[in-house]
Amino acid sequence: MQGHPDGFGVHYRAMSETLYDLHAHTTASDGSLSPAELVQHAKLCATDVLAVTDHDITAGIREAQQVGREVGVCIVPGIEISVTWSAQTIHIVGLHIDPEDPQLLHGLEELQAFRCWRAEEIGRRLEKAGISGAYEGACRYANGKIISRTHFARFLVEQGRARDTRQVFTRYLVNNKPGYVPGRWATLAQALAWIHAAGGIAVLAHPARYRMTATKLRQLMGEFRELGGIALEVVSGSHSSDDMQHFAKVSRQMNLYASRGSDYHGPEQSYADPRRLPFLPASCHPLWESDLWKACAEHAA
Ligand code: AMP
Ligand code: MN
Ligand code: MN
Ligand code: MN
Repeated sequence: MQGHPDGFGVHYRAMSETLYDLHAHTTASDGSLSPAELVQHAKLCATDVLAVTDHDITAGIREAQQVGREVGVCIVPGIEISVTWSAQTIHIVGLHIDPEDPQLLHGLEELQAFRCWRAEEIGRRLEKAGISGAYEGACRYANGKIISRTHFARFLVEQGRARDTRQVFTRYLVNNKPGYVPGRWATLAQALAWIHAAGGIAVLAHPARYRMTATKLRQLMGEFRELGGIALEVVSGSHSSDDMQHFAKVSRQMNLYASRGSDYHGPEQSYADPRRLPFLPASCHPLWESDLWKACAEHAA
């Protein structure tokens, strides 16, 4: 394989290599493409294996699998579970889950209920800050599906309160801003237990996004591994090239496999398009080469 021309040591794939994108969203949560559209887009990006990993819901998976069979993209059923760990929100991706597993669905119901309450609370807080109709506006964007801060962000952009969703987050939706409501999500142990009950494997999503010290992050990864987590998202649409190189090294040190996911939310969102996502650095142990992955893939076939 050739080195990346930018000199980051990120590798292009060989022509024969399978292209994996193990993190993406649909309209079942805060993506802007329907499951069918997401799969069509993955096909355009030459993705061979696509994991559908909506926030706290599995509702988009069946449609994606159906279209995947039609167009020739292998769909991995997945989930991105919101977790509160050490007073911070972190995300755990579950892959090869059974989307109908009762224990998983029961756990997710709690998170969905919290999302409904939080959305109303965000609406009330924004109202106090002089922005009316945000709850109704966000609901319109969520369109009966799971509601997320992203839907508030889209509404506030529409209202001219910020130039893009990223700016909405920094102005309104993060800690110390008027529309911020602290998360009360699953525990790390619960998230892993639900994923394992559903026959899946757990990946720690986009580690570079967490605002914690290196020591704290190591503690998180240690607990994650003790609970049976096996991989770290090394290549993510929200990681810089430096982040990818750094977490490639960390994944080896921590004895975790490496995953690769665009975290695609649709064409107008802020993270990288899957087409621009680098391949895993050559030094990593790809998750799809693990025995657990192979066992899951065989089971699904
Ligand atoms: P929630 O799970 O409802 O709290 O919303 C979190 C989602 O908001 C993430 O999955 C991202 O899609 C999006 N998000 C979080 N931070 C930002 C940001 N700074 N800019 C744009 N989108 C963001
Ligand atoms: Mn999201
Ligand atoms: Mn995430
Ligand atoms: Mn995501």
